[in-house]
Amino acid sequence: MTDPVLVLIDHDRGTVGDETRQALAFSRACLPHAPVAAVVIGGAVPPTVSGADAIWHVRHVELDDYAPEAWGDALHQLAAAVSPSAIVATGTERGNEVLAHVAAIADEPFAANVLLATPGSPWRIRRARWGGSLLEDATVSAQLPILSCALHVYSGDLANAPAAREVSVAEFVPTLGPGAARTRVVDRVQIAEGITLTTAPVVVSGGRGVGSEEGFAAIEALAELLGAAVGCSRVVTNQGWRPHADQVGQTGKRVAPDLYIACGISGAIQHWVGMQAAKHVLAINTDPNAPMVTKADYAVIGDLHEIVPAIVEELRRRRA
Ligand SMILES: Cc1cc2nc3c(=O)[nH]c(=O)nc-3n(C[C@H](O)[C@H](O)[C@H](O)COP(=O)(O)OP(=O)(O)OC[C@H]3O[C@@H](n4cnc5c(N)ncnc54)[C@H](O)[C@@H]3O)c2cc1C
Repeated sequence: MTDPVLVLIDHDRGTVGDETRQALAFSRACLPHAPVAAVVIGGAVPPTVSGADAIWHVRHVELDDYAPEAWGDALHQLAAAVSPSAIVATGTERGNEVLAHVAAIADEPFAANVLLATPGSPWRIRRARWGGSLLEDATVSAQLPILSCALHVYSGDLANAPAAREVSVAEFVPTLGPGAARTRVVDRVQIAEGITLTTAPVVVSGGRGVGSEEGFAAIEALAELLGAAVGCSRVVTNQGWRPHADQVGQTGKRVAPDLYIACGISGAIQHWVGMQAAKHVLAINTDPNAPMVTKADYAVIGDLHEIVPAIVEELRRRRA
């Protein structure tokens, strides 16, 4: 296969998110013979993208900030011009949203959260369904395969596989009317500073066992000492103890920290799928038979209201 794969680069005003590099690694792994062309939409100057054979910089006044329909329209026009073998993005909210627009315009199927892809007629794919609790093997019959790769399956480091070298940057200017961007970014609210839930190396998460909004003070204290982010289960957001932005799981965030500390969380499948990519899990729970405990690498059986403050106190004592 010699036609290039177009890989959408998910960036926020020129800052490329780590996740977007997973799509480059996915393309290298599943389509090893196809050149990889990164597609940077918007901005005056394309951000540096390592791991691609070429870069398309798509420019237009309607693309200055994130606008899903306009980005999808522009990417579709680029695809029509260069006839790629496939279009790929990382399965972030933005990646999936933009590819859904491309697929709708092209009248082609869109396969989201793909784990493996084998080109052919038809393409064979394996993808994660139901929040990762089900693997689906499927075929895709399409003139233009459009795929997003499942998050945290391919290491972004692999995107660096080709030696660093000069990569050509070509410009593409799509035809977009003034109404192309029906959804626009009009304001930004900073809801987290420093460490974020999806990038934190350690996540301290609380569930129903925490008991109240005030109960999260000890969880926050532990997170601060560990340089961790605070997460929670859906019961907690349903109770209004934490905002939905902190929820981990099928209907919350997917996290992949080095260590996930689950305090008073039973480990329901809908929660587990959000943190199953964690390298190590420590469960703190009164129930030795809770799924979170039986699946965890480490467990402390007992009342989190005693255990978490004790860990905080010991960490402070040692650091003093
Ligand atoms: C479509 C759908 C989507 C969903 N999406 C999500 C999602 O994204 N994220 C999510 O989390 N859930 C989700 N859920 C809900 C999920 O099924 C569970 O109900 C939820 O995860 C349970 O939360 P929990 O573990 O905090 O509470 P529980 O299941 O009630 O568990 C509480 C745990 O705390 C322990 N405990 C109690 N007191 C203490 C104490 N003092 N010290 C230590 N341990 C204690 C108990 O032994 C128990 O294991 C979804 C459900 C559905 C149907």
